[in-house]
Amino acid sequence: MKTHRLTLALAAALGLSITACSKTEAPQAPATDQAAAPAAAPAAAPAEASANPFFAVSALPYQMPEFDKIKDEHYAPALERGMSEQRAEVDAIAGSSEAATFENTIVALEKTGALLTRTAAVFGNLAGANTNPVMQAVQADMAPKFSAHQDAILLDGKLFARIKQLYDGRDQLGLDAESLRLLERYHTDFVRAGANLSDADKETLKAMNSELATLATTFSQNVLKEVNASGVTVTDVAELDGLPAEAITAAAEAAKAAGNEGQYLLALQNTSGQPPLTNLTNRDLRKKIMEASLTRGGRGGEFDNRDIVARVAKLRAERAAMLGYETHAAYVLEDETAKTVGAVNKLLSDLAPAAVANARREAADMQAIIDAEGGGFQLEAADWAFYAEKVRKQKYDFDESQLRPYFELDNVLVNGVFFAANQLYGLEFKERKDLPTYRSDVRVWEVFESDGKPLGLFIGDFYARSNKRGGAWMNAYVAQNGLTGTSPVVANHQNIPKPSDGQPTLMTFDEVTTMFHEFGHALHGLFSNVKYPMFSGTSVPRDFVEYPSQVNEMWATDPTILANYAKHHETGEPIPQALLDKVMATEQFGQGHATTEYLAAAMLDQSWHQLKADQVPADTLAFEAQALKQAGLDYAPVPPRYRSTYFSHIMVGYSAGYYAYLWSEVLDAESVEWFKENGGLKRENGDHFRQTLLSRGGSVDAMQLFRDFRGRDPEVGPLLLRRGLDNPIGGSK
Ligand SMILES: [Zn+2]
Repeated sequence: MKTHRLTLALAAALGLSITACSKTEAPQAPATDQAAAPAAAPAAAPAEASANPFFAVSALPYQMPEFDKIKDEHYAPALERGMSEQRAEVDAIAGSSEAATFENTIVALEKTGALLTRTAAVFGNLAGANTNPVMQAVQADMAPKFSAHQDAILLDGKLFARIKQLYDGRDQLGLDAESLRLLERYHTDFVRAGANLSDADKETLKAMNSELATLATTFSQNVLKEVNASGVTVTDVAELDGLPAEAITAAAEAAKAAGNEGQYLLALQNTSGQPPLTNLTNRDLRKKIMEASLTRGGRGGEFDNRDIVARVAKLRAERAAMLGYETHAAYVLEDETAKTVGAVNKLLSDLAPAAVANARREAADMQAIIDAEGGGFQLEAADWAFYAEKVRKQKYDFDESQLRPYFELDNVLVNGVFFAANQLYGLEFKERKDLPTYRSDVRVWEVFESDGKPLGLFIGDFYARSNKRGGAWMNAYVAQNGLTGTSPVVANHQNIPKPSDGQPTLMTFDEVTTMFHEFGHALHGLFSNVKYPMFSGTSVPRDFVEYPSQVNEMWATDPTILANYAKHHETGEPIPQALLDKVMATEQFGQGHATTEYLAAAMLDQSWHQLKADQVPADTLAFEAQALKQAGLDYAPVPPRYRSTYFSHIMVGYSAGYYAYLWSEVLDAESVEWFKENGGLKRENGDHFRQTLLSRGGSVDAMQLFRDFRGRDPEVGPLLLRRGLDNPIGGSK
């Protein structure tokens, strides 16, 4: 259901209109750049049209949103009217007396909801990038209305009857490949949403969805409350030895806010690992924090999530069975690149032994330090971050501040990111200071092909601020599509601290890599060359969407690109090779731990969602332990990144989908290999990637796109190499 344009338009309006990024923590919906604005806008009364900029198609180049005219009070009326207009358009299609044709049904559906998609594309993004209390209130108010709007369309029996009739006779319609895929996609989306069910089953389904929504809300509220309830308080500041001064200050303030002035409250974060564990020298305190973290949601009390986890697993299994699937995972994965439970299980189990072996090697390095210090104990989960930091300092010591003078923002963007796109694809960039934005430090570039043909607009919103959500992401304000003839308007967002006036913006290496990453999503949107809005740009499966962006990261460290951008902002000196080598060396450090904790969480996700309803266990934690053991991921010093009772990604966000980051990375690592095999930074290589993959959006099966590009199916070897997992299992140390 998630690749459905309608669904995504709704997700956009709910503030999920982003391309998920592996660098961020929060679960996110995939891209929503299907938000194409058809040329023929529904007529609006002239007075209203002038009052509300959403009511008419923007007159700016590329239909770029009129940010200077959009005000908070415009969102709710435009979203409300957008929904009622779409409902009327859909009703007209469903109730038509004419026999169903591809044009009057499927193509017509693709054209519905212009106002809604146009508004949702802006609202969904700015509710994350530049929010305020008014927008937050609109978000909360709209959530149930969107849900009902979506159900009304996807479970509309008359509409589905027309789609099904076309689908059943699809071989006789003489459709081109993309049109045929569109028809199949509509049919699939409706079927997956329950359109084929009897009226009684539809009611059951709605009730299940409703209960699941309530459980998800309770689960996430419990997670939040339990995080707050599990913070560790200490009375003596001496116990905080090792913690940086600002962290001690924060702990004192947190304790004061909790009514314990004079004490110190170490708040928890969502993951199993906790930041203070890196610095605290007091081992008892470390153990106390780790224990508090790992027992969240499963230790009894009012915020216990154990029964909710089991209930959700059961409901999802029952719903999947009703829709004709073996398990919930089978239901979810059918719509992803992975396609089957077997394919995901194979990826996870192929990597597990090597990852754990690597983690054990990392542990051996740490145990050596513990022993040399006369510690007299075995490394535990609570000790990992503390001793990992010691190893890191020993092996790779360098200071991030040495790097930053070589990574000035404008230099990285223009002479790095844009330069790479020029070398690979021939793109040219011209800044458009004449076009309005929603903040003065947000910038716009017009992008041109090598022959001077205009391609689209690129918007850069790079700076952190208090009303912007964390992480980095891409969105499309206008998506390319041939049906209505729109060109792309895409944007990248980061959270780079803004320097004081007149000072240069000096970035960390991580921020540099992220800038290349996000621009990979931007290219996916800019190069889109499809007919139907449904398939535009990054409208691809979740386990595929991070792949092109991860590939673009490779150019951040390409010698030619680096030489062009990594120059001292004052002297123009190139970055010293020795410094660069240290940066590259640290990339592999800690991969054993990172991969193991990720795999353990991904395996838990699959274990819960590969159950049939009658297999759902009564004891949540016992099941979890058994699942990890069976997968060979029960290595106590490295607990899962999230345990079931606080794993919001899979309970609220994308169930059976946590594996997706790694799946994308397999394709990414393979593609990086392809570029290297074929001479790296060359126009013909870029053009091949663009033609076979980046321009195709979701118009062709994603795995086929990969094959078209690579010439064969993906293999896991390059990923193992990258993550340092290629050593023989059970190797030295
Ligand atoms: Zn990303």
